[in-house]
This record gives sequence, structure tokens and C-alpha cells, in this order.
Amino acid sequence: MQRIEHIYINGEFVTPHGQEWFDLHNPSTEEVIGQVRLGDAQDAQRAIAAAQAAFPAWSRTTREERIAALQRMHAAVAAREDALMEAILAEYGAPLVRGRWMATYPADVIVQAIDALKSFAFEEQAGAATVIQTPVGVAGLITPWNSNAGFICNKLATALAAGCTAVIKPSEMSAMQTQIVAEALHEAGLPPGVFNIVNGRGDVVGEEIARNPGIAKISFTGSSAVGQHLLVTGAATMKRVTLELGGKSPTVVLDDADFAAIMPLVLHAGFMNSGQACIAGTRILVPRSRLAEFEQIAKEAVSHIQSGDPRNADTDIGPMVSQKQWERVQDYIRIGQEEGAILLAGGEGRPAGLRSGWFVKPTVFTRANNQMRIAREEIFGPVLTIVPYKDEADAIAIANDTLYGLSALVLGKNRDSCERVARQIDSGRVLINTLAHEPRAPFGGFKHSGLGREMGKWGMSAYLETKTLLGNAN
Ligand code: NAD
Repeated sequence: MQRIEHIYINGEFVTPHGQEWFDLHNPSTEEVIGQVRLGDAQDAQRAIAAAQAAFPAWSRTTREERIAALQRMHAAVAAREDALMEAILAEYGAPLVRGRWMATYPADVIVQAIDALKSFAFEEQAGAATVIQTPVGVAGLITPWNSNAGFICNKLATALAAGCTAVIKPSEMSAMQTQIVAEALHEAGLPPGVFNIVNGRGDVVGEEIARNPGIAKISFTGSSAVGQHLLVTGAATMKRVTLELGGKSPTVVLDDADFAAIMPLVLHAGFMNSGQACIAGTRILVPRSRLAEFEQIAKEAVSHIQSGDPRNADTDIGPMVSQKQWERVQDYIRIGQEEGAILLAGGEGRPAGLRSGWFVKPTVFTRANNQMRIAREEIFGPVLTIVPYKDEADAIAIANDTLYGLSALVLGKNRDSCERVARQIDSGRVLINTLAHEPRAPFGGFKHSGLGREMGKWGMSAYLETKTLLGNAN
């Protein structure tokens, strides 16, 4: 049993003022495998004060000094890949391939921040004016459990690259990953106070970050409900806010698609990260004229998807992160049936042979309509909904008939048709016949999927204020 007692403030691991201990579970066995001591509002205030004190000096560091610091961070995080992998398997239950990606991403994303910093234009001319990008102040960084280490490293590296200092409120459910990252960052030897990490509850430590006037900017990844709340709370102190929120992403299968060829992409898009992915392609739009053919191929393909022990190399889908999340997914499987959608695969309960662990059967509903809750609400589990459409215009209308707009996938043979459809989908990202990721491109959502963008120069800009200097021309 691992006990994580300390938080990280002003360059030191310290005992929090908060007294509450929070249980960490292995979602594959439901066992308690650790405990973390949570900070409280007073701890958050100390961390914010440390970040404020460190801001003047850090904001004046040169590009080269920041690159050197980020390179040390990268080396220290990369050296802990295996420890991170083990924590991700134990406290989150990601299947092996996904887990390995999640263990390498935190270091990779620091390299991407370094690349963005190397080429970033902090100054440019606009007519007679010099336009300067200046760091906004202390950033409050709040992360979810579905890729905690990656989000900490991405947000922190970008904030530091821009010249901000930071207070991180990681997901309280991912404290093992946080501890490994904190030890790595400590080893990187950044000046005290430049980054601070306070484990704690969202409505305690997160709330203090949202309210405290010492925080100039919030970067949040999590649910749309909490994101909206942060926007409202942050408005009182005019915080700059970047939100990466939920999704109900459409996979648009065009009528010329080769169903057998695209089915692996369809299922991978939907079931990625055990369905606990903001970008998961959970609404599958299929031409009504070919629906029966699609259903038959999908049913066959899903029968080969394994949901079970994440340490088994054949496993595609691991457990849900918590009992609460498992119950929520079960509720939606019931709701889908009550709404009149047809179960093509899966259903309620655990997969055959599993008596414990928060495992869900890979589930596909078909013959749904886009007004059903299973087509509108983010389920955050391996539950996909097939919605038939009449023609291309109908497909685009259904794809856009959602509160969300984070990601979309278009699949078809004719490249022109694919691109024509892709350009009409209201979404921060549209993939065509690929699930490839481009880390240099901006990432973020339309509508309730978020506000602002992360990654590359767009991500850096979110931590900067634009200042115009005029009148000193030679
Ligand atoms: P969540 O919103 O419940 O929690 C996210 C973080 O916010 C946690 O650290 C939590 O402690 C904190 N929090 C909760 N209440 C708070 C409050 N009142 N004030 C401040 N902070 C508070 O989300 P989750 O369940 O951890 O993660 C799943 C959600 O995250 C899904 O909706 C998913 O789509 C979304 N997500 C989005 C992206 C993206 O990039 N768009 C990526 C991953 C996850």
C-alpha cells in the first residue's frame, strides 16, 4: 500500500495542512492500493503565494534559459517512463499499448513545448508599433484522471515556456502518477516556486484556484460542467481561461466506404482509452441504404474486442477508472435500451468470466436517432451508438447536431467527398481516413467542448498577454 503524504510547494515536498486521506483503487481488482493526503484551501493559498513570488524572476528568463530548464524536465520525466507505466496500469488500468503511449507522452510533450518555444515570436512589428507577448502571470493548471501525467507535463511545459509560473491541481484519483512526475520535476532543479503541486479535491483546492486573485490564468482539462463553472467563477477576477472539455465525436462513414477495411478505425476511434477519451468517436453515422451490411461487419469485428485485464497483451479495453464511472456507463446502457435503440453487441454487466473489476462489455447500439441521450451525452465508456443517415447533407447535419465539437472522423474512398464533408463539420479537429495525431497542430474544441487551444504557438499564446509599444521610433 503506497501512502503519498506530501505536496510540492516552493521547491520542497511538504506536509499539507489538509488532513483528509483519499483512497486510491486498482480498477482491475477494486482493491485499495494506496492513499493520498489531500491539501486544502490553505495549501492552495501557500502554493499560489510561492508561484507569485517566483513569477518576476521566471518571467524575465531568456528563451535559452527556459529551453535549458525544459530539457532538464524532459530528461527527468523520460527516465521515469517505466515507473509511470506501472502507475498508469495500477491506478488507471489502461491496456498495455495505450499505457505505454501514456507513459511516453509526458516526456514527448515537453519536447513539443521546447519546439514551440524555439520558434515563437515574442516580438513583432505592426506598422510603427512593436507588439510584445508578455507572460500573463501565475497559471492554475487542473487535470483529469484519464491522462493525468500527460496533461500535467503539457500544461506545465507550455506555461513555463511562456514565462508563467504555475500551481497544479492534478486529479486526486491519479496521485501515483502525480508523485512520479513531481519527483522528476524536482530533480530537474527549477527555481523554487516556479511550479507547485497540490493534491486535493476539485471543490476545495480547484475552487481556491478558481477564486484566488493571485491566479491570472486557468488551464483546465475535464468535464464540460466543471469547465463552465470555472469560467463563471474565474470571471470575478477576470481570469484568462483555456478549457479542454468533453465530446460526443462523430465518425462519419460515407456511402462509398469499404466497411471491412475501415472497421478497425471505427472501433479503435470509439474504444480508445477504454472509451474514456474526450475525442472518442462514439457516434457512428452510417448510410441508411447500407446499414444492414455495416451492422453485420461491425458485430463480427466487435466479437473480437477483448475487455479485461489490462496487463494481458490481447486486451483492447481495460476497466473503468472507478465504481462511479462503471455505474454511470451501466446506466447509459440501460437508458439506450429504454430509448428503443437496438443492442448490436455487449450490454449490461461485466464481460463473461469477470467477477470483479470495473469492466464493461464492448457495447454497440444501432438504429438509434440523434435525439436519444446515448447519441447526445458523453458516456465516457466503451459504448458506441450507430445513427443512420439519408444522404451527405443529412450526415453533416447530424454530425453538427450536438453541443460538442472536439473531434470528428470521416471515412470514405473518394478524397474530394471526404474533404468536402470534413470542411463542413463544426469541430476543433477532423481526421480523414486516419487516427494519426499531429502534436504541432492546435488542439481544442468548438462549442461545449472547450475554449481556446493547446499545443504549438496557439497553446503558448494562451499564456501570454499582447502589449503594444508605440512612440519610440528612431
Ligand atoms: P472532472 O471535470 O470531474 O475533473 C477534472 C478536474 O477538475 C479534476 O482534477 C477535479 O478534481 C477538478 N474539479 C472538479 N470540480 C472542480 C471545481 N469545482 N473547481 C475546480 N476544479 C474542479 O473530469 P474528470 O472526470 O476527471 O475527467 C473526465 C472529463 O474530462 C470528460 O468529460 C472528458 O471528456 C474530459 N476530458 C477532456 C479532454 C480534452 O482535451 N478536451 C481530455 C481529457 C478529458
